[in-house]
Amino acid sequence: VPTNIPDMLEEVADRFSFQLHQKAISIEIDAGADIQSVMLDRDQIDQVLDNLVSNAIKYTPEGGAIALRATLTEKAWLEIAVQDNGIGIPRKDLTRIFDRFYRVDKARSRNMGGTGLGLSIAREIVKAHGGTIALDSELNQGTRVTFALPVQQMEGEPA
Ligand code: ATP
Ligand code: MG
Repeated sequence: VPTNIPDMLEEVADRFSFQLHQKAISIEIDAGADIQSVMLDRDQIDQVLDNLVSNAIKYTPEGGAIALRATLTEKAWLEIAVQDNGIGIPRKDLTRIFDRFYRVDKARSRNMGGTGLGLSIAREIVKAHGGTIALDSELNQGTRVTFALPVQQMEGEPA
């Protein structure tokens, strides 16, 4: 469906406003002025965003910061990055992080709930839409997940 990207990002933040407030985590939204509406499988992309933002909140200590950034490339790919300054992921775990049920060291995630499915589901959805997803992380510094999808811009809309 035609989706206004800045609105979509604001709405994700709104869905998590309680958890964000509870942990005093700030959220910055930056959807470049060039992006307005594109055609998206909205329910599915919302699920990707929800999985990534819930991770960003879960794995970021109180007082942290999250940023959601969207850009539209010249080749009409929508790129969205979800970045946090949380606990990060050890380098040795990075290759398996998208595997089903994979969770980094049980000790740290035991008290946080979850099954280890969020990232694998996100990747399945992105792939099913012809896109790519990648994760960068530095232990104790933070994590950034970036996904990109080919999109169709709405005709007749101001660029
Ligand atoms: P679920 O999403 O099913 O509730 P989960 O969050 O443990 O459970 P995934 O979302 O697949 O599962 O993430 C897998 C593991 O990757 C997590 O257990 C966590 O160790 C690590 N991880 C994911 N996102 C982050 C992040 N933003 N910062 C630090 N670690 C992360
Ligand atoms: Mg998760």
